[in-house]
Amino acid sequence: MKLAIWLALCFVLIVPAARTQTLNGNSYTVQGATPEREAALRRQIQMMQPAVLPYRIRFVPHWQYLYAAKIYHLHVPTGMGSKMFTHLASRSIFIDEDLYLGEEWLGHWIAHELGHLTTNSAREEDAERAAREYRMRLKERSRNAIPRSREPTI
Ligand SMILES: [Zn+2]
Repeated sequence: MKLAIWLALCFVLIVPAARTQTLNGNSYTVQGATPEREAALRRQIQMMQPAVLPYRIRFVPHWQYLYAAKIYHLHVPTGMGSKMFTHLASRSIFIDEDLYLGEEWLGHWIAHELGHLTTNSAREEDAERAAREYRMRLKERSRNAIPRSREPTI
């Protein structure tokens, strides 16, 4: 058990310092994403307005994803094609970058992970119940969003 904790800390500590961004008085970090993916992710989360924000979201290569899942003693169901998971205690979301399938995919699954955080539950039904509302908000708001090319750059 002690070894597992040490490894987990190591895993966290080797990560380079990440930028933080304030969102409604809360902030979360996005690590390991390309600028485009990070921007898309932040835009989607802003549109979903989840009740609970993660502390951090990490895009990791496949081997690191499996490693993190192992460290956290998570059962990653291979049949379901797991591509993200949430560690509730640290409010961390891990995304398998090697399996990234575009913005629509990202929005759909991040809503599910935010559902886990919102309900503070590891049960898939609970996550999906909250996720449905977030997906609806995302759909609604992206329809009314300004085309990206006209968005002001900050
Ligand atoms: Zn889930």
